[in-house]
Amino acid sequence: MRVLVTGGAGFLGSHLCDRLIADGQEVVCIDNLFTGQKANIAHLLDHPRFEFVRHDVIDPFKVEVDRIYNLACPASPPHYQYNPIKTIKTSVMGAINCLGLAKRVRGRVLQASTSEVYGNPQVNPQPESYWGNVNPIGKRSCYDEGKRCAETLFFDYYRENKVDIRVVRIFNTYGPRMHEADGRVVSNFIVQALRGEPLTIYGDGSQTRSFCYVDDLIEGFIRFMAQTKIVGPLNLGNPGEFTMRELAEMTLKLTGSRSRIVRRPLPPDDPRQRRPDITLAKKVLKWKPTVELEEGLGRTIEYFRKKIG
Ligand code: NAD
Ligand code: UDP
Repeated sequence: MRVLVTGGAGFLGSHLCDRLIADGQEVVCIDNLFTGQKANIAHLLDHPRFEFVRHDVIDPFKVEVDRIYNLACPASPPHYQYNPIKTIKTSVMGAINCLGLAKRVRGRVLQASTSEVYGNPQVNPQPESYWGNVNPIGKRSCYDEGKRCAETLFFDYYRENKVDIRVVRIFNTYGPRMHEADGRVVSNFIVQALRGEPLTIYGDGSQTRSFCYVDDLIEGFIRFMAQTKIVGPLNLGNPGEFTMRELAEMTLKLTGSRSRIVRRPLPPDDPRQRRPDITLAKKVLKWKPTVELEEGLGRTIEYFRKKIG
């Protein structure tokens, strides 16, 4: 199979490329290197089954492939809010271009959607049937609504054009190759702890998130893409739910750091809680996360220790 991965030089995309190459597939990686890095795929560049193309998914692309994973989009709040109009264009135009391509090559196309489509949820945990509680005009809307519109496009192409879609809603995922200046909570806390700087908790730290280790997520992607029973939307994430204060304390314990914890203002529209209901993934994919937060954080800390010294 020839597989296209958009956003393939990013955190999740590069792990996906590794997995596809290990599985014997031919991989074409498209990325504009906005938040991704060539370093993430440097070890693949000379591989005979790997090809990197620097391209922006806002512009159409022609490539003969059997499968498409559409991951191109900045994912951390500081990065997606840096140029919000560009973020929406990436989600919406990127989805249209991937769907048009999938239609032409009659390929299967997976959209990397997000738990952000649930907004600040009034239901916990969140099942796929929950429609969400999203502010359409706030600072996070460029990402949330962009991803919601991409889901709409996927289902319209599915109904109207019989495009073979998969839509996965990813809950906070972490691991090696997160960008050290990415701004997401796991990388922030680890880098701060290793540098002996204060850990910055936004708000009072009682908000919750559920953290999935990257290898578990990629296994879920592969299983979802391979099966033909459901098209989604499908939640993938680790149901373990932690407050940001618990995460900060765990990071301090595992790094052995003596950093202080400080409070910073809570960004607007920051969701109070988030936890996936993964009943569907368990049932259809026979998938569940295998890496506990403490173990995955340990592996991620080792990565950052080597990277930032
Ligand atoms: P990331 O920022 O590391 O990766 C995104 C990649 O897309 C980067 O390599 C970036 O350069 C590329 N990109 C951005 N805009 C582009 C454009 N216009 N054209 C071409 N390439 C472009 O983030 P990630 O965590 O690896 O996220 C990958 C995907 O998964 C994103 O679509 C994100 O919304 C989704 N997702 C991730 C998480 C998570 O916790 N990691 C959670 C929910 C959804
Ligand atoms: N957060 C924090 N300190 C940081 C970065 C983030 O307390 O240095 C909080 C943030 O306010 C949010 C949670 O951690 O409540 C997760 O933030 P992240 O940006 O990782 O992802 P998202 O909000 O998109 O789930």
